[in-house]
Amino acid sequence: MTQTATVTTPTSFDFAEFDRYVMGTYARFPIALERGRGCRLWDSEGREYLDFVAGIATCTLGHAHPALIEALTEQIHQLHHVSNLYYLRAQGLLAKWLVEHSSGDRVFFCNSGAEANEGAIKLARKYAHVKLGIDDPVILSAHASFHGRTLATITATGQPKYQKHFTPLPTGFDYILYNDLGGLQAALDRYHNRVCAILLEPLQGEGGVCPGERDYFQAVRSLCYERGILLILDEVQVGMGRTGKLWGYENLGIEPDIFTTAKGLGGGIPIGAMVCKSSCDVFEPGDHASTFGGNPLACNVALRVCETILQQNLLANAHDRGQQLRQGLESIAQDFANHIAQVRGWGLIQGLVIHPDSPLVARDIVQACLERGLLLVPAGVKVVRFVPPLIITAEEIEQALQRVRAAVASLVK
Ligand SMILES: *Cc1c(COP(=O)(O)O)cnc(C)c1O
Repeated sequence: MTQTATVTTPTSFDFAEFDRYVMGTYARFPIALERGRGCRLWDSEGREYLDFVAGIATCTLGHAHPALIEALTEQIHQLHHVSNLYYLRAQGLLAKWLVEHSSGDRVFFCNSGAEANEGAIKLARKYAHVKLGIDDPVILSAHASFHGRTLATITATGQPKYQKHFTPLPTGFDYILYNDLGGLQAALDRYHNRVCAILLEPLQGEGGVCPGERDYFQAVRSLCYERGILLILDEVQVGMGRTGKLWGYENLGIEPDIFTTAKGLGGGIPIGAMVCKSSCDVFEPGDHASTFGGNPLACNVALRVCETILQQNLLANAHDRGQQLRQGLESIAQDFANHIAQVRGWGLIQGLVIHPDSPLVARDIVQACLERGLLLVPAGVKVVRFVPPLIITAEEIEQALQRVRAAVASLVK
C-alpha cells in the first residue's frame, strides 16, 4: 500500500495555550498530531511519522481506514445514541460476534478498559456474595499489573506509583507475584476461603511487556476450577488480535471465566466490554449500568473492526509482522548488547528491554525515534513498547527498524 500525503498547509499550534487550559496529567511529547492515514501521521508542522503507538494499542486498522469511516458514517446518519433503555441492533450483533469468537457467553458494554475491569470486579464480588457465600471477598491481582485509573482499578493495579496520594483505597484487594505459583498458593492459604477471583493480564503491557507463562496460567486455571474461584483476564491491551491470536489467553491454552476488552475493540473509537461465562452472569437489572455503554456508534464501528480483522487476515499479519519486528529488534539488541538486554512479547506487542546497567531509559530511545519520524511509547522506565496497527506492512516494519537502530546508535556513540 502506498501512502501519499495530501498536501495540507501547516497551521501553527499554540502549545502554551493548550497547557493553560488542559490539566497536566500527561507528560506530552511536544508535537501536535493533525492527520493520519494507514500507519502514518502528520503533525502541525507537516512532519510525517510512522505510528508504532497506534493510540496506545487501539487503532487496530490504523488511521482513516475506509471500513471504519463507512461504519461510523452509516451509523451516525441512522442513530448514534439513545441509551440502554431500549434494544439496540448493533449492540446485539457485536455481543453475538464476541461470544461466537471467544470462550464467553454474555457481554456487558461500557466505554473504556478501566470501566470494563470495574464491571468485572463488581460481577466477581456479587458472585462471591450470592454464589460462594463470602461476605468480605478478596480479589488477587499481580504486582506490576495495570488495570486502569478508577479507584477500584488503581487498587487492583499492583504498582504503588498509581496509588500514591489517592488513599483511602477500597479494601478487598491483594497482590501476588506474576508467573509465580507458590506466591498464589500462599495467598490463597492466607485468606482461607475469602478469595473470590484472580485478575491477571495474559501479558503485562504497561508493566513492561511481560508475557504470561503457559505452565503458570494452566496451573492457575486448575487451581481456580478446584476452588471454585473466578479467573478474570484483562485483555484490554492484548485482546482483539494484537498477539496474532484474537485473545491473549489463546497463547496460554486456557479459558477465563470473565475477560475484559477495550483498547483495540473499537479501532480507536471508545468502547469497552466485559465478557463472562453464563455460569457467572449474576447481574440483574439495576446491578450495573453505563449511559454511553454499547451505544450504536461505538458498536457498529467495533463490529466492523472485528469483521475486518478476520476478512483481511489481520491475525496472520500480526503474527508474521510481529516475527519480523521481533527478529529485527533482536538483531539491534545483539549489536548494542551493553544497552539492550532482551526483546520480549507476542505478535505485534513487543518490548525492547534496556539493560539494567545502561544509563539509558525508555524515554531517551522514544525521543530519539520521534526525532527520526517514528512514534513509540515506553512501558515502564526501562522498556520501549512497539504496538503498531495490525495492518502494518513489511516495508513499514523495516523502515521502523532502521530508525530504531539509528536512534540507539546516536544515543550510545
Ligand atoms: C490501558 C489498559 C487499561 C485501562 O484502559 P482505559 O481505557 O485507559 O481505562 C486496563 N487494563 C490494561 C491491561 C490496559 O492496558
